Amino acid sequence: MNLNVPLTIALSKGRIFDQALPLLAHAGIEPRDDPETSRKLILETSNPRVKFVIIRASDVPTYVEYGAADLGVAGKDVLLEHGGDGLYEPLDLGIARCRLMVAGRPGMPEPGTRRLRVATKYVRSAERHFAAKGQQVEIIKLYGSMELAPLVGLADLIVDLVESGNTLKANGLVPLEHIADISSRLVVNKAAWKMKHEAVTALLEALRAAVSERGA
Ligand code: ATP
Ligand code: MG
Repeated sequence: MNLNVPLTIALSKGRIFDQALPLLAHAGIEPRDDPETSRKLILETSNPRVKFVIIRASDVPTYVEYGAADLGVAGKDVLLEHGGDGLYEPLDLGIARCRLMVAGRPGMPEPGTRRLRVATKYVRSAERHFAAKGQQVEIIKLYGSMELAPLVGLADLIVDLVESGNTLKANGLVPLEHIADISSRLVVNKAAWKMKHEAVTALLEALRAAVSERGA
């Protein structure tokens, strides 16, 4: 892919990086270093115009919104939390698929007597979900290991990502309510969309082709 301007792509280590790699490779973009072993946070790629910046998954929308990266790959869960309309989201990459769910001990706790406590990293999505049901809950913000909260009496319910359900099961929890299907999206900075339109479009279309070919 011949690009007329440089492009910076924000990616997070782990499953998003691993699953985005084949799609990017399809567009002729392969990193020169492995982020799992390299300490570099800026990676050159096989395309001299393209570099990756390696950041926390939840920071990707911020980097892209402020233009520190032209594009990025972010989970829909992260985008729902980030909120607003500060970036474009032109392509569902169909990777890192899972579901955002309410989970708890088997059998929904009795609503009524007291306000249920819900532990989650996904405060906005949880608030929106329970508000839409007209259920008053107390949200407790956590940064990880949500499954622990119901076991030690911190919360009645959790809102978390569920893939196979094995982590829930291993902790005696069950999925109770579906909130959203999650996959990773290509996000684009709004100014880059205009000012670097040709290059951004070339990359977008190459990724779109990679996604549909993989699906075929
Ligand atoms: P950090 O570890 O930096 O706090 P994180 O835990 O969100 O971030 P990952 O676990 O790599 O980082 O998740 C990155 C993204 O991958 C999530 O935002 C989500 O979109 C997706 N994801 C997370 N867990 C799963 C899962 N179990 N199955 C499929 N996709 C997942
Ligand atoms: Mg994680």
